[in-house]
Amino acid sequence: MTLEGKQLIGQSAVAANGAAINAINPATGETLSPAYAAGGKAEVDQACELAWAAFGTYRETGLEARARFLETIADEIEAIGDALIERGVAESGLPQARLQGERGRTCGQLRLFASVVRAGEWLDVRIDPALPEREPMPRVDLRQRHIGLGPVAVFGASNFPLAFSVAGGDTASALAAGCPVVVKAHSAHPGTSELVGRAVQRAVAKCNLPEGVFSLIYGSGREVGQGLVRDARIKAVGFTGSRSGGTALMQAAQERPEPIPVYAEMSSINPVFLLPEALKSRAKELGDAFVGSLNMGAGQFCTNPGLVIAQQGEGLEAFLDAAGEAVKGAQAHTMLTPGIHEAYTQGVEGLTQSRHAREVARGPAGDGPNTCQVGLFVAKAADFLSDEALQAEVFGATSLVIECADQAEVARVAEHLEGQLTATLQMDDGDLDAARGLLPILERRAGRVMANGWPTGVEVCHAMVHGGPYPATSDSRTTSVGSAAIHRFLRPVCYQNLPQGLLPEALRDGNPEGVSRLVDGKREA
Ligand code: NAP
Repeated sequence: MTLEGKQLIGQSAVAANGAAINAINPATGETLSPAYAAGGKAEVDQACELAWAAFGTYRETGLEARARFLETIADEIEAIGDALIERGVAESGLPQARLQGERGRTCGQLRLFASVVRAGEWLDVRIDPALPEREPMPRVDLRQRHIGLGPVAVFGASNFPLAFSVAGGDTASALAAGCPVVVKAHSAHPGTSELVGRAVQRAVAKCNLPEGVFSLIYGSGREVGQGLVRDARIKAVGFTGSRSGGTALMQAAQERPEPIPVYAEMSSINPVFLLPEALKSRAKELGDAFVGSLNMGAGQFCTNPGLVIAQQGEGLEAFLDAAGEAVKGAQAHTMLTPGIHEAYTQGVEGLTQSRHAREVARGPAGDGPNTCQVGLFVAKAADFLSDEALQAEVFGATSLVIECADQAEVARVAEHLEGQLTATLQMDDGDLDAARGLLPILERRAGRVMANGWPTGVEVCHAMVHGGPYPATSDSRTTSVGSAAIHRFLRPVCYQNLPQGLLPEALRDGNPEGVSRLVDGKREA
């Protein structure tokens, strides 16, 4: 399929006239065609107008029709074939196998949301029938369901060109909730975005949905991104990226005459706690496995283990020796963009210059222009607690190990941490008491607490929480991965004393949609 470099507004492909955006192959430095002329105010206005017009019809599509739409998007993405993987590799520097896996995840999560839509539990139907004879006051008839918030602005993420971009988790969950989506494409992978955007366009047409259900705009964050967030017809935002970008969007959303929710996933250093018995029994194994997780995808995962915390002693020394050796042999992978590479280089330079951090090891430099030289540093807990610079995320394959005097200091470091997506305990049976002491701290700090695994690798399922207190995300009450993500784009409406003919189907007597309902406090179906 030939890439056209145009904005996808509803069913149209529109030539804009802003500055040219070209993808750059980070592995070679080559500029890729075509150029995408940036959109601006006019394109934002057109897409929002269409999305608003589509909302009324789309939010009332039946469960089966909406589920079929999500499945059709997945089918259309798969039908693109190798061209999608080839373009994704060229634009991101990620290996082919990774993008194939990501395509599987993208289509898998679209199909997961299709099954969630069909099951109808997201409607959260509650019915409290009238009690006219109740004393001292009769009860009126009250029925609740959830509806979509309205059109959602989604920002494609640089580090997941498929699974968290145009038809990724935010888009899938918003569409599942009955919300039209306007995507602001990430400028690092415009061609991949166009291929997927056209697949969604085709699905909209095949399912006979209003064209405004989906649009894709290329342009700058400040013009297109802020323009979308400030548009009165946009009712929620999904974002994955930097803390500064997410925080700016939160501010823009709050400044609107009608503030709206922003679900931003931003910054997390994902602490890993190495407990004493685990260190005693398997320090080398932990060191090797840790570097494997650290260097996966050049460390460009929001769940990358950027911080390791342990009590000083022989076990930690053995871990540092093993991890240091593994770092020295760790391949330098290509990073996603020259900008991300530059930010990584500066972050590592900050650690190198810090009077509180000591370099344990650096990996080989790598051949290409934007390769990620793996790094491992160590610092004393007291210095970490007093030096904010050591607590900042270095996005990429560099991690900092914190040496604590005892378990009480380990707990103080845990207490001091900002909000995180994950917290990991490496523990043996003899560490149960130490783990029990940390757990109440960690569950207040992180969205996901795990034992004896590594934080990279996020299962898309019903129980997953990919969230956490600020700055991991802007709203710790939700998740951006897994089926519970649909709740971000819903709100409850209560219908009081409405005649049957006026009620939405899911709330009518006889349960014509066959959804699970809470009737007078008892679960039905
Ligand atoms: P980014 O700079 O935050 O950009 C993400 C998207 O937000 C882009 O489309 C960007 O538009 C837009 N944007 C950024 N600042 C904005 C603002 N003030 N107002 C409106 N829109 C704005 O993230 P990135 O380009 O993916 O990577 C840069 C850094 O983000 C990385 O080095 C890393 O530190 C962090 N990051 C974190 C995660 C994570 O999972 N936590 C993932 C990816 C990146 P433009 O097209 O104008 O750039």
